[in-house]
Amino acid sequence: MESNPTYTVVLGGGESGVGAAILAKDLGMKVFLSDFGTVPARYADILSAEGIDWEQGGHTLDKILSADQVVKSPGIPPTAPVMKAITEKGIPVISEIEFAGRYTKSKMVCITGSNGKTTTTMLTYHILRDAGVNVGLAGNVGRSLALQVAREPHDVYVIELSSFQLENMYDFRANIAVILNITPDHLDRYDGKMQNYVNAKFRILNNLTPQDAFIYWHDDPVIARQLEHVTTEASLYPFSEEPLPESRAWVDKESDEIVFSTPGTSMTMPRSELSLHGLHNLYNSLAAGLSACLLDIRRDDIRRALSDFEGVSHRLERIGVVDGVTWINDSKATNVNSCWYALECMPEKADPSVVLILGGKDKGNDYSEILPLVRRKVKAVVCMGKDNAKLLDFFSAEVPAIRSTHSLDDAVAACRELAAEGDTVLLSPCCASFDLFNSYEHRGDLFRDAVKNLSSK
Ligand code: ADP
Repeated sequence: MESNPTYTVVLGGGESGVGAAILAKDLGMKVFLSDFGTVPARYADILSAEGIDWEQGGHTLDKILSADQVVKSPGIPPTAPVMKAITEKGIPVISEIEFAGRYTKSKMVCITGSNGKTTTTMLTYHILRDAGVNVGLAGNVGRSLALQVAREPHDVYVIELSSFQLENMYDFRANIAVILNITPDHLDRYDGKMQNYVNAKFRILNNLTPQDAFIYWHDDPVIARQLEHVTTEASLYPFSEEPLPESRAWVDKESDEIVFSTPGTSMTMPRSELSLHGLHNLYNSLAAGLSACLLDIRRDDIRRALSDFEGVSHRLERIGVVDGVTWINDSKATNVNSCWYALECMPEKADPSVVLILGGKDKGNDYSEILPLVRRKVKAVVCMGKDNAKLLDFFSAEVPAIRSTHSLDDAVAACRELAAEGDTVLLSPCCASFDLFNSYEHRGDLFRDAVKNLSSK
């Protein structure tokens, strides 16, 4: 292998950092990986087996500040002391996706948005893989792009991009860029300024050419406003629920068919055949279907895959029915907007029939967005968090019953008491999980186990 004089420092020893270190090594670069915390054992083993120089539990600044480039994990905020030192020295900082993108010519389908990224990414991947495309899954889900580029290359990558990843992308070019929606999230990382967050999301459009496509939700007011200021050479593929003249995917109200219309493919399928339910999942299906049409996937393959996709855990996951009560795990709903969509697709009965579990680590939430749906559909709120004061204050006067609990078991017991036959218990907490759990997956897994326990009693 040719040696490459670029000295690359990788910050963060997770999936993306370890992948980047391996790619740098394979490119013949000198590599050093540094993690301020603890590198998970499986990654530590890989680094050692690969013979990559690495450290954990702190940063050796001398070794870091002599780098030619730094590949930074998206989890490290630009305000971290090590990042300040790197920036002061003028060392270029890039993301793992930017780094890997420089060494592949494969097609890139990149998906961002405040909500629906994982679902749409997995759905798009499912369509392509089942159609026989040699496709890789990367970004926030699956293996790192860098590792795949280095060791298991694919013809197409479907990549979920968070705003944090987009921050350190410069020359990267998507072939198909998707923005699903933009609502307030992570504002703590953006000085509380929504515009900074919007700008980060729109970086997905950087470097697009007339051969590339930009797919977006036509009716999102934030995207629409930003498009008044931003220009792109890419062809535009807006989707909408309504059949607007500019839409390239929509629902035909009379036949209840969804319609896709791209230069290469024009197709329809009954909306009732979509495997994912709810308005938000209609949007996700339209975005994924459009991407597949643009990649010239056969119509039958697209229809089949849109109707047999099994969904992703912790996203409106129906756990089961116990004594006539349906239990739903939407633990991934860590902001108010995603809970809005969950409530939107709950049944509307003469009397409210949803017992809603809310709470956790509040990210500066404004709950007024869900209030109209709560008033119409929710019979009881069960707060589940270390500190429930804000929720109790906001919802006490709005719902017939409210309980304050501080553990999953107590929350499930309260729901069991409050829900009657025909009702639905929905865990869609609007909040991050870190006050009581390790992650939203941990919260959702424990919830699922607790419900399964009820059914076996
Ligand atoms: P992300 O990866 O962007 O966090 P997910 O696909 O994991 O998105 O879904 C997160 C939550 O957002 C789910 O609980 C779901 O109910 C909700 N959601 C999914 N798609 C959308 C959408 N298009 N618009 C709004 N909310 C959505």
